[in-house]
Amino acid sequence: METIIRAEGLSKSYQMGEVTVEALKEASFELYDGEFVVMLGHSGSGKSTLLNILGGMDSPSGGSFWYKGTPVDTMTNRQLVDYRRKTVGFVFQFFNLIPSLTARENVQLAADIAPNPLDIDEILELVGLKERAGHFPSQMSGGEQQRVAIARAVVKNPDLLLCDEPTGALDLSTGLAVLELLQDYNKRYHKTVMIITHNTAIGQIAHRVFTMRDGRGS
Ligand code: ADP
Ligand code: MG
Repeated sequence: METIIRAEGLSKSYQMGEVTVEALKEASFELYDGEFVVMLGHSGSGKSTLLNILGGMDSPSGGSFWYKGTPVDTMTNRQLVDYRRKTVGFVFQFFNLIPSLTARENVQLAADIAPNPLDIDEILELVGLKERAGHFPSQMSGGEQQRVAIARAVVKNPDLLLCDEPTGALDLSTGLAVLELLQDYNKRYHKTVMIITHNTAIGQIAHRVFTMRDGRGS
């Protein structure tokens, strides 16, 4: 299997006055092309910190990581913009859709900034929202809004889809359906998916489970 991400000793600390918070401590791992990885860990264990660094939204204070052999932590801002547009898709707990745009327009916006986007209608169909494409976020349930957010992330055709507690704002059965959608996407498009979730049932169907403990990954 091809390695798409290799991380060596990734660390992140925040200086809060006199106190240094070590959010991430020396995480070293590889992510392989096409795998479905679940990250578990209690609140405050550094999961979001790690995902934000991998997504090029935050920089580590120590260590390095590579995307297909290219170092990401030393990229210029311009290169990081490209990395975020092309390589990674991000799904957040609270959807973060643009309220004044329809579902289709939210997805379109992401497709427009990506160099190699997938077909918008194909993706709206994948997430089961073809009929709702003209609706605004306020006209949709939480589960539907998260489907739009997933469509927006995957339409860019990213090699790596990062999801930070994508079911955290949803009830159990809606959350499970969203996780199944992410799994379908992984199977159909063979793209790497990494999700933070507390759902242990999803831990069982993951190819690999990462556990974060006090900033350390294993
Ligand atoms: P998780 O996602 O597993 O709940 P986080 O990665 O959000 O954990 O946070 C890990 C630790 O780093 C926590 O102790 C948190 O308070 C701290 N932390 C995260 N972001 C910041 C920040 N911007 N400034 C200071 N401390 C932070
Ligand atoms: Mg978090």
